[in-house]
Amino acid sequence: MEKDNVCINCYNQIDKVAKVLNLGQAELDILTIPKRILTFSFPVKLDSGDIRYFTGYRVQFNDARGPTKGGIRFHPEVNLEEIKTLAFLMTLKCAVVNLPYGGAKGGIMVEPKRFSQEELERMSRGYIREINNFIGADIDIPAPDVNTDAKIMAWMLDEYEKLKGRHAPATITGKPIALGGSKARNFSTSMGGAYVLHELVDIFDMKPRKTAVAVQGFGNVGMNIARILNEWGYKVVAVSDSKSGIYNKNGLNIKDVIQHKDKTGKLSKFKGSKEISNEALLELKTDVLVPAALEDQITKKNADNTKAKLILEMANRPITPEADDILLDKNIFVMPDILANAGGVVVSYFEWVQNSMNFYWSEKEVLERLKTYMTDAVKELSNEPERRSSKAS
Ligand code: GLU
Repeated sequence: MEKDNVCINCYNQIDKVAKVLNLGQAELDILTIPKRILTFSFPVKLDSGDIRYFTGYRVQFNDARGPTKGGIRFHPEVNLEEIKTLAFLMTLKCAVVNLPYGGAKGGIMVEPKRFSQEELERMSRGYIREINNFIGADIDIPAPDVNTDAKIMAWMLDEYEKLKGRHAPATITGKPIALGGSKARNFSTSMGGAYVLHELVDIFDMKPRKTAVAVQGFGNVGMNIARILNEWGYKVVAVSDSKSGIYNKNGLNIKDVIQHKDKTGKLSKFKGSKEISNEALLELKTDVLVPAALEDQITKKNADNTKAKLILEMANRPITPEADDILLDKNIFVMPDILANAGGVVVSYFEWVQNSMNFYWSEKEVLERLKTYMTDAVKELSNEPERRSSKAS
């Protein structure tokens, strides 16, 4: 069979596991060759009246467990191999938290900061026009990802409904609440990660108040997990965004940090803090390190300098497979992204269920259910080695 669609990163990611699990060639193919790949170029009218072409992707990796599910990102480094890898990770993620979904991912190669709201709206609508025949509540369900949010989901859903001539809210999740979005969806990835960390801290016999945390990334996910952990009593000693970072060994008040960033547009010069670079933050001697920005942050170049006890992967694939091996040798525990950051897709699932029932839940109900999904998955994962060894004996 032709194998030019194979995802190399996916292969590297599961190569060792495949040996441990004794996977055959057919199983390896299922896990490394996406089911459907859409690559397209589409025109967008700019405010100047000029037309510019953009490249878009949607990869539907595997639908064995149900319709494919995954976000759409806007980023200048988006490329097909990256989208395939992220669609593969969505497939594993939905399975780990036991959702009735397969995995997908999409994106546009664009630096969104360079475009006006009107241009981004036309771009979002153009993207949906390209994929509208391949998505739907029981086919493939997009959602937000890096640099996309509820407003962009609203434009996309509106375009989809216009094309189909019917109401179809369950086609896209991460929508504004007024359009059928779920309560708590906007901070659910971070809340899910916080529930996972709380379980881990308990398993490792640590105490939240004595646990120092450094968070890399101050977008939706990084900012909210820093805020939630700080509210729960953790000592958040460092945070950073793409421009700079701040550090205080006695802990930062994250609510004040958020206000400072809202006012000044940056993290630096927050009172009582020292400046710290993104690279230095990753190498801090801290109890917990939370990479919550982009892929490939801990690589074979810097993994050896990492000094945290625990790493909670809130970004997708922030640690490369080579770096994973180094961290394992150093006895640093890594909670992988496919569980740590699954809170977003879990609440997307709740949103889809609510849209299908036309029956909406309170924030309290959403968070209680999210907690159950996340903590059950941690428990199941921690029982896995024992389950495997008793099966083998
Ligand atoms: N983009 C998020 C993720 O990587 C959410 C996906 C979704 O809600 O479908 O998990």
